[in-house]
Amino acid sequence: MKHYRKEIIINTPTRRAFINITPAVEEAVTESGITEGLVLVNSMHITASVFINDDERGLHHDFEQWLEKLAPEKPHSQYRHNGAEDNADAHLKRQIMGREVVVAITDGRLDFGPWEQIFYGEFDGKRPKRVLIKIIGE
Ligand code: ZN
Repeated sequence: MKHYRKEIIINTPTRRAFINITPAVEEAVTESGITEGLVLVNSMHITASVFINDDERGLHHDFEQWLEKLAPEKPHSQYRHNGAEDNADAHLKRQIMGREVVVAITDGRLDFGPWEQIFYGEFDGKRPKRVLIKIIGE
């Protein structure tokens, strides 16, 4: 069995953002030389998510509004976590949107269903954060 590991760095200019990282994952699959296997993609930070959904602007706006209703950023004082920090909402949003995805690799390509794309969801940005890509297979 072959294995391959890569980290990518994401630094968003805004506190919150959704970024399509599918091209970076495809690049890692190509670099790995693995044509049959699995790729794991996970955020290495507990205020950011990796998830699969549609690359559609309206949907991303809907996610933002839905998450903001579930865990509003402000007032910061509403959260116990916000003593020295102000990112309690980001921890909660990350928990809902998930830590990682696993995608099958078939014939050297990501074996997606229709419209599936991999996103990085940032909820406490404006600083460099890491995403881990781990690939196993043959
Ligand atoms: Zn925190």
